[in-house]
Amino acid sequence: MIVITLDHLNQIHKHALKIYPEECCGLLLGTIKDKQKTLIEVFPAENSWTPEENELFPKTTHDTQKILSKQNRFSIAPEVVFNVQKEARSRQLQIIGVYHSHPDYIAVPSEFDRAIAWAEYSYIIVSVTSNNVIDLKTWQLDNTKNFRPEALQIIKVNS
Ligand SMILES: [Zn+2]
Repeated sequence: MIVITLDHLNQIHKHALKIYPEECCGLLLGTIKDKQKTLIEVFPAENSWTPEENELFPKTTHDTQKILSKQNRFSIAPEVVFNVQKEARSRQLQIIGVYHSHPDYIAVPSEFDRAIAWAEYSYIIVSVTSNNVIDLKTWQLDNTKNFRPEALQIIKVNS
């Protein structure tokens, strides 16, 4: 299960709408205790997908006629992940997951998402159109490396 605040949710929604029609992406910083993740901070990242990466992750049956681009692929630069990890550690936090958007597509992981997924992470996917957030779901790999829905608890924090 992952616990996130309404503010975090809004941050992810806004990022997805701003970057539409491309996929937005970012890292989730927080804590893990007894398999329960708590999101502390959303770290928006640049989608640094390059056409060269098409070679590494060829088209799958899930892909429609669309050409592979930032509209259906995302990538977070390794140095960004490294730096965020370092910062997280210094604050007693860790990277607990990744979020990204699916422009004009359901909030279900693609075969590509599965190929690049890490075991322990939560994968938040937000489905957006040009002017609306349609859905948000969170996923985690099971021990057969298939995505399963993860429980999401949204809390309101008084600031
Ligand atoms: Zn995806």
